[in-house]
Amino acid sequence: MRYLIATIPGDGIGPDVTREAVTCLEAVAKVFELDFEFEECLMGGAAIDACGEPLPAATIRAACASHAVLLGAVGGSKWDGLPGPKRPEAGLLGIRSALGVYANLRPALMFPQLAGACPLRPELVEGGFDILIVRELTGGIYFGDRGRSPDGRYAWDTERYSRHEIERLLEVGFDAARRRKGRLCMVDKANVLESSRLWREVATQMGRERSDVELSFMYVDNCAMQLVRDPRQFDVIATSNMFGDILSDEASMITGSIGMLASASLGDDGPGLYEPIHGSAPDIAGMDRANPLAAILSAALLLRHSLGLEDGALAIEGAVALVLERGYRCADIATRSAPGPGAPVEGRARELLLGTRAMGAMVAETILGGSS
Ligand code: NAD
Repeated sequence: MRYLIATIPGDGIGPDVTREAVTCLEAVAKVFELDFEFEECLMGGAAIDACGEPLPAATIRAACASHAVLLGAVGGSKWDGLPGPKRPEAGLLGIRSALGVYANLRPALMFPQLAGACPLRPELVEGGFDILIVRELTGGIYFGDRGRSPDGRYAWDTERYSRHEIERLLEVGFDAARRRKGRLCMVDKANVLESSRLWREVATQMGRERSDVELSFMYVDNCAMQLVRDPRQFDVIATSNMFGDILSDEASMITGSIGMLASASLGDDGPGLYEPIHGSAPDIAGMDRANPLAAILSAALLLRHSLGLEDGALAIEGAVALVLERGYRCADIATRSAPGPGAPVEGRARELLLGTRAMGAMVAETILGGSS
C-alpha cells in the first residue's frame, strides 16, 4: 500500500527538522518495505511570501487528501506586523480546523538518559517519566463567545462545551490509557466551573462502562503542583483546551527541552496532524543547531496513530533512545554547552554534540541497523 504524507515544513527551523523527520521515515520505509510518498506544501510565512496567504487552498487540498500531515513550525518576526488572519499562525488554526482534529496528544516523556537536563531534583525523576496529555483542541474558551463592553470597561470570554465534544475527547483519553498503563486522570476545575462539572459527569458515566481503565479526577491547580512534585504518578491526563494548553507546556519543561517533544492532533477520521510542540525558533534557524528529535518523534506518532504502523513507530522511538544512550546530544539537551559539533561535552565524558543534520542521520542509520 502506498501512504501519502503531506509535509508542511513552514518557517525558521521548521524545514530543518522536517527534513530530518522525513529522512527517518524513509529509513523506516526501507526496513519495513513500505511505500511512502511525500508531498511538500506551503504554510505560514513561506506561503505568505510565495502567494500572499498563510494557508493556500492547495495545501488544504493536499492535506485532506493525504493519510497524514507532518508539520514543522511557522512564524517569525518578518511577518509579525501583519493583522491576525494574515499572520503565519492563522495557517495553524486553519489547518487544524480543516482537518477537524479535536484531540491533541502531547506525550511528555523524559528519557532517563536526559535526567541531567531536567530542572527537577534527580530523585523526583529517577527512571524517567512518561505522561500523555490529551487536550481538547477545537472548543472551550478559545472558541467561545468573547467581547468587550462599548465603554471598554469590561471584557468576557466564554467556556462552553457540549456533551458530544467532551465524550469524543474522553474516548481518545480512555483508548490511550488502555494502550498504556491503564490510568486516566481527568483534570478540571469542577469546584468552581459549571462546564467542568459537566466534564466530570460525562467522564463518570463513561468510566462506568470502561472499568478496565482506572479513572481519577484532579483540580487543575493541584495538577499544576503535582506535575512538579511527583510527575511519575501520571499516566494519561485528559482535559479541556485551555487547561491542556497550560499543563502541557509545564509538562514539556520538566522533560528537559522543548526540542524533544512531539504531538499528534486527531479527529474522528481523516488524516492526523503531527508536529513538534516547539515554534520556528528564528534565533537558531538555518544554523544546524535545532534539535530534530521532536519532529522525528512526531513522525513516530504519525506511523502509530494515522498509519497503524506500530513497528515503525517503535523503530523510531527505539533508535532515538539508543542514540541518546550512546551519548549523542544536540546543544539544547547537552549537560553543558560544548565547543562545537562532534566535540565531547565537558562534564559528561560520554556526551557528543551533534548538529541537526548529523542527529537526523544518526537516528536514521540506527533505524537501518547501522553501527554508528
Ligand atoms: P520557539 O519554540 O520557537 O523557541 C523558544 C526557545 O526554544 C528558543 O530559544 C529556541 O531557540 C528554542 N528551541 C525551540 N525549538 C528548538 C529545537 N528544536 N531545538 C533547539 N532549541 C529549540 O518559541 P518562540 O520563540 O516563542 O516563537 C518563535 C516563533 O515561532 C514565533 O513566530 C511564534 O509565533 C512561532 N510559534 C510557532 C508554533 C508552531 O508553529 N506550532 C508554536 C509556537 C511558536
